[in-house]
Amino acid sequence: MLKRRSFFIIALSSIFSGCALVSNIDNTSPTSSISKTPIVVSDGVASFELDNGLKVIVKQDHRAPVVVHQVWYKVGSNYEHNGITGVSHMLEHMMFKGTKSVKVGDFSKKVSKMGGQENAFTSSDYTAYYQVVGKQHLESVMQLEADRMRNLLLDEEQFQKERDVVTEERRLRTDDNPSSKLYEQFNAIAFLNSPQRIPVIGWMQDIRNWQLQDLQSWYEQWYAPNNATLVVVGDVDPVKVKEYAEKYYGIHKKSNIMPPKPQLEIPQIGKRAITIKGATKLPSVIMGFQVPSLVTASNEDGRKEAYALDVLGDILDGDDSARLTKFLVRGSKKLASVEAYYRATSRLKTSFSFSMTPSAGVTPEQAQQQVWQEIKKLQTQKVTKKELNRVLAQAEAAYVYRQDSVNGQAMVLGSLASVGLPISTLDNWIDNIRKVTPEEIQAVAKKYFTQDTLTLGILLPNGEKVKKLRGASSHGGLR
Ligand SMILES: [Zn+2]
Repeated sequence: MLKRRSFFIIALSSIFSGCALVSNIDNTSPTSSISKTPIVVSDGVASFELDNGLKVIVKQDHRAPVVVHQVWYKVGSNYEHNGITGVSHMLEHMMFKGTKSVKVGDFSKKVSKMGGQENAFTSSDYTAYYQVVGKQHLESVMQLEADRMRNLLLDEEQFQKERDVVTEERRLRTDDNPSSKLYEQFNAIAFLNSPQRIPVIGWMQDIRNWQLQDLQSWYEQWYAPNNATLVVVGDVDPVKVKEYAEKYYGIHKKSNIMPPKPQLEIPQIGKRAITIKGATKLPSVIMGFQVPSLVTASNEDGRKEAYALDVLGDILDGDDSARLTKFLVRGSKKLASVEAYYRATSRLKTSFSFSMTPSAGVTPEQAQQQVWQEIKKLQTQKVTKKELNRVLAQAEAAYVYRQDSVNGQAMVLGSLASVGLPISTLDNWIDNIRKVTPEEIQAVAKKYFTQDTLTLGILLPNGEKVKKLRGASSHGGLR
């Protein structure tokens, strides 16, 4: 089933366990003199931009001699169009296939020899590559990563082999997984014309028809210094990072990048619904509503709505005392499980969704009624101070926990930069959560959760034997 992952929870869903490090940057040392672009220090984070447009973010964290090096490209499935869906994720796979100076498979071997870890991931909003190494290896991984930013060799034979890998990945994660399939179908009707509807892995029909040239064009179009953010967190000196960045990334030319068209979702003028059947024991239901994010909000009122929706998500779902589990799973016992999901940092208009598995004997319609009852409560009664305090305590705990992981810190910085949100979003998060009022929560519940703006997805058992699932995917992105 789907997981509710708010801004911080996404950032903390580390690909590996981070080291216990603490930030220790000097807020008062604002500049370096290596090039004309100064290092700016704000909120404990140093940042600068190379002449070729590469944005660099450095956060010092000196508790262990470790460094996380990440490159984030502003490209993902919601930059794609029909016919080539999934091409961002496929390109991520192909990025391990070598350059003129690094043979196929050698990238990973080299990082492994350093005793480091490395991988990559693709989401709807971005594609990122990372390595975690001892600080003495920072220069080497920067050289390696900078090389494949521009010098990737795309080869027909490797392409065909990797297409098979991705085909199998799609089969395992989505086609053989009724819950993933339901989410994919739900999402494709929740958005009719916005590329938010495109699954990260791509439609199978498109995967089968990709050409090598599609990958080549995608690479040339988006993999450029002025479409990337380099994030380095750990036991590093920003001046040294800048020196290496100039040396290895600075040699690449700026590209002429056309920003993607807005492709704004058309207004929803009625309920949208789909029912599918699959090999499942119990039915599943997803109810979703189009909502703004911090990125799509055009003014302060819009941003307040995004924070109110985030708090609302935590009131409904977040821990055992949150409303949905408390009242619908433990209380009425009508639902076997239920989750609420909203991502305030989405680049495009997104969904606030409720996903649930009804208890045995409860129909999908009765399950929906249960959730509508909770929605009605939000619309007619103000949330209590106690509930708001619980949400705030959770947000504060997540913030502190994030500081424990160099990777967690880098993930937040890279994702914010990639969707165009200021880095200060992170440090202002708790303050903004604290400012959300019961009236604002009630207002967003009334405005966005209506019968006419509902998108409904239902999965019913088809009577077939339930397969053992591997590698389920949901909102989070792919590797
Ligand atoms: Zn993959």
